[in-house]
Amino acid sequence: MTLRNQAILGVLAALAPLLAACGGGGDNAIDVAGGTVLQNAIVVNTRDGSLSAGMNLHVEGGKIRRITAQPLRATGAAQAFDVSGKYVVPGYLDMHAHAVHRADGNPPYWPLMIASGITGFREESDSPANIERGNALNRDSAAGRVLAPEVIFHGGEAHLNPAISARDASDAGAPSFDHLGAGWGLIMDCSSEEQTLRAAALAGSLKPPFPPTFVTNPRAYDGAQNAPFYQRILDTYDESKCAALSKVFVKNNTWQTLTLIRLRTQVYGNDPQYRNDPNLAYVDKSTRAIWQEVGDQFAKLPASAVATLQQFYELQKRVSRLMKQNGVKMMTGSDFSGDMSVWLVPGISLHQEFRELAAAGFSPLEILQMATLDPAEFMGRQATLGTVEEGKNADLVVLDANPVADVANLGRISAVVLKGRYLSAAALEKMKADTAAAIARQ
Ligand SMILES: [Zn+2]
Repeated sequence: MTLRNQAILGVLAALAPLLAACGGGGDNAIDVAGGTVLQNAIVVNTRDGSLSAGMNLHVEGGKIRRITAQPLRATGAAQAFDVSGKYVVPGYLDMHAHAVHRADGNPPYWPLMIASGITGFREESDSPANIERGNALNRDSAAGRVLAPEVIFHGGEAHLNPAISARDASDAGAPSFDHLGAGWGLIMDCSSEEQTLRAAALAGSLKPPFPPTFVTNPRAYDGAQNAPFYQRILDTYDESKCAALSKVFVKNNTWQTLTLIRLRTQVYGNDPQYRNDPNLAYVDKSTRAIWQEVGDQFAKLPASAVATLQQFYELQKRVSRLMKQNGVKMMTGSDFSGDMSVWLVPGISLHQEFRELAAAGFSPLEILQMATLDPAEFMGRQATLGTVEEGKNADLVVLDANPVADVANLGRISAVVLKGRYLSAAALEKMKADTAAAIARQ
């Protein structure tokens, strides 16, 4: 080596830290001294489904600090994870759940929810005690004392009062409906005999739910008892009325949390795919026994009544799709709660919801948006939620395959980043296994 070359090398060596710090080093890498680095990710833009390959993410302090095509080098306390070929999306939001009551349970619902990619959920049971417990949980998880999704309180359920049409409720300022209004709900607005049928319902011509002691799945039994009434709504369905109702929702910015899986499990209470679901290993033994009993009771319902309710569910899916196509704003929600929500396994039920939405004709991108971008808009939290961008919360799901190509890929979870903490596939599997083991010991 010549003296001159030695001198140049000496200057470069002196400059190296400076160059590395501003990203202009010889190897082009940016040093990161803390937090977590995801290397070589494919970032999914939830606004339009476009993909940015070869991106490196730095998350620290619960936030996404940097997203860059330049290499990031973890130094000091920073940890790096190679996610080559993996797709990064925002953490999923279950916008209708009942989970805070299990905050101190054994096991709580959090491990299953996190392993399912859920980094935040809207708690619908907003009693003062639940709000206090939920807020304490948020403080504990923000401080790293517990691993839990964010608890979001945003008003309670907005079931539709049967006395009021969905149109009038929307005009009166209802911010959102859950379960398409529950029961016959807003589908009544789409009947050509709406006035007559609503008057009949209010006049008390409907029968009470049966069996009266069995409260776990009341709407299904109520519906079975009143199947002729539901059949009349089916027979008088007028799609133009539903299209007009969609326009009212759009005008008033009335949102929908469909919870299709909740509606389906109520009218397929004896479906072997639920009774034999291997995920029941994550459900309390006492709850499982109740659900199996619901299945047994459901099998005794008159076949023609069940057929009517199942046709009604098909119409609910059709109306959901129609409203979405007409621009009605929507969010994903599962409505799992424990023994009251038959066949809904915490966390996993959100993926069942994704599949129901796909079966109803929603595109994978629409479903991804309803779990991320759309709830962020509903809550006015676009600054921190809904997209994978610098400054947003470091709540992410790393997927093995492109979620925009196939809705099933939303469930192919390779890792979850919760408040900046990287949870590998192995860590997530252990969380699920520990839950199953705790249940087995019950
Ligand atoms: Zn609910």
